[in-house]
Amino acid sequence: MPVLSTIPPQNLRHTVLAYGPSKAGKTESVGKLATLGYNLHWFDVEDGALTLSKLPEEAKRRINLYSIRDTAENSYAAKTLLKVLNWRNNGPKSLCVQHGLLDCPSCKKEEKPFDSFDITKLGLNDIIVIDSLTQLSDSILNSLLASPENKPEYDHWRNLGVKLDSVVDWMKAATCHVIMITHEQDIEMEDGRNKLTAVGGTKNYARNLPRHFSHVVYFSVVNKAHTAQSKSVALNGVVTGSRTDADVTKDPTNPLGVIFPKLATA
Ligand SMILES: [Zn+2]
Repeated sequence: MPVLSTIPPQNLRHTVLAYGPSKAGKTESVGKLATLGYNLHWFDVEDGALTLSKLPEEAKRRINLYSIRDTAENSYAAKTLLKVLNWRNNGPKSLCVQHGLLDCPSCKKEEKPFDSFDITKLGLNDIIVIDSLTQLSDSILNSLLASPENKPEYDHWRNLGVKLDSVVDWMKAATCHVIMITHEQDIEMEDGRNKLTAVGGTKNYARNLPRHFSHVVYFSVVNKAHTAQSKSVALNGVVTGSRTDADVTKDPTNPLGVIFPKLATA
């Protein structure tokens, strides 16, 4: 059995919950990990491609972008990601370029292009990015409703939790790193106090969500500059934490680079 002290940092697998308000630098910070040599497999439900286009050319070549055109009526994010990010997924999958939909029937019919994605080939040089969990949660909920106008009831919320659990279960056993980007909300925690924490599923689900990740990083704008925090004691009333005690404030230009070591291939 390997002793922990003999495991080099590049052999540790990380799962990161990166959250905060819009325009606080989340997408850009995650994208910068490509400059450290990581291959990013980016499931974009937020139309974040424009932000990533600011990265250097070499970094952009390491980003495989799958743009999922999710709407309330079609729930393409749920239809695709619940099958792709699943431990039962055991081989290459085809996503259409136009909608990002798994085995898209209309693109097949019209002989439009497909991208291939094989989750079983990924290792510790690879990071799967879900941008965003907010949008994926909405998409799953919409997929459970007969029509977007219907009001969700108890069973819908419960099923949303079951489906999100399947993604979390996959993440825990994945062979690559995983980063989920999401937004913030102010909710009452188990101790009765309100805290800012990440959006994902119901409020009850969101309360337990951070414990599934090895790092929880909060992004915000302070004095007109993007900042990120990861130490569990960093900010009063804001959920953050790192199992390796990583302090992302150590590198303001590439905060997540404090968690992910630069690869030899970079
Ligand atoms: Zn399509």
